[in-house]
Amino acid sequence: MEVSRIILKRKIQEFVSKLLKEYELYAPVKENDLINFSAINTNSEIAYDYYNSTKPPKQILFTQSETLFKFKLGRKSAEIEMPENSKKEKIILGIRPCDAKSFSLLDKVFDNEYKDNYYLTKRRSTILIGLSCPNPKATCFCTSLGSTPFSKENLDLLLTDIGESYYVEIVTERGAKTIKVADELFSKPTKKEEEKRAEAQVEAEKKIVRHLSINKIPDQLENIYDATIWESIGEKCIGCGICAYLCPTCHCFDINDELSASRTKGARIRTWDYCTHQIYTLQTSGFNPRPTQKYRVRNRIYHKFKYLHDNFNILGCVGCGRCIEHCPVNIDVTEILSKINSVSVEK
Ligand code: SF4
Ligand code: SF4
Repeated sequence: MEVSRIILKRKIQEFVSKLLKEYELYAPVKENDLINFSAINTNSEIAYDYYNSTKPPKQILFTQSETLFKFKLGRKSAEIEMPENSKKEKIILGIRPCDAKSFSLLDKVFDNEYKDNYYLTKRRSTILIGLSCPNPKATCFCTSLGSTPFSKENLDLLLTDIGESYYVEIVTERGAKTIKVADELFSKPTKKEEEKRAEAQVEAEKKIVRHLSINKIPDQLENIYDATIWESIGEKCIGCGICAYLCPTCHCFDINDELSASRTKGARIRTWDYCTHQIYTLQTSGFNPRPTQKYRVRNRIYHKFKYLHDNFNILGCVGCGRCIEHCPVNIDVTEILSKINSVSVEK
């Protein structure tokens, strides 16, 4: 379904108030100069005018630290207590198109041979209301990954700022359902408003300055596993994990049991993990198949641009630019991809 509506910005507060009565609402919120997605209670908390969140909103569905279950241990028995899921549907309001696209990859990983019901239960009860991206940063390259700052992939609604109003594209039935809570606030767009929406997309795409050819990367990686480029990239990496923690597609996790002092009860917790950490593949024998950063960075790139491609026909990057912006030693994934494209096959 493809229908469009208009809502005046001064009416958004009313819309959000009505959504809050029926849904658990998450939106970009400014805290200590950082924008991140949080559960909100009022419209005034929402930062509509933002570039992108520091942490991707994947953290709402695949939380940084999550209790899988609690347990009590008897002498010969164990009791398990599963976490309760919220009964309300969730809405992520204001998600950027690149971050919405990342769910295509996360869905494939978590809804495969092994079903990750912790993620899937939340994902299935979450509506995505996107906010198109009018001012991509110099680090953005979503168009090289087959997307645009106005992509509707995985979204239920897409809002575009066209001045005094938002142009609202209804992408799915679920999106239409959310509009229905406040139908009276929406009107049909005029020709002029349609033109403004189209112009906004053209202007946004012009602002993207990084353009890469990605098509040949998986094939090229087939041939350059032992190339010298991995040495120089690995020498720079300090293994801090920022790139993985801020990446909307990264999904590695670790699981630990936390026990009470009496060791009779505890909780099984999963937390995000990252592949550039020195102990990520350390075995109990002391052997590490990825002994230095060269091996770890190479694996990160192969995972994103070859293994996921080979296994799921998808890439582990949406071009959000967060890892480029935040890597403390300026490792730039687009530079790595350009090098991969240009390196001649070394054996
Ligand atoms: S953010 Fe940079 S230094 Fe830190 S692990 Fe990633 S590539 Fe290495
Ligand atoms: S690899 Fe970097 S640019 Fe690509 S999606 Fe992850 S954080 Fe964004």
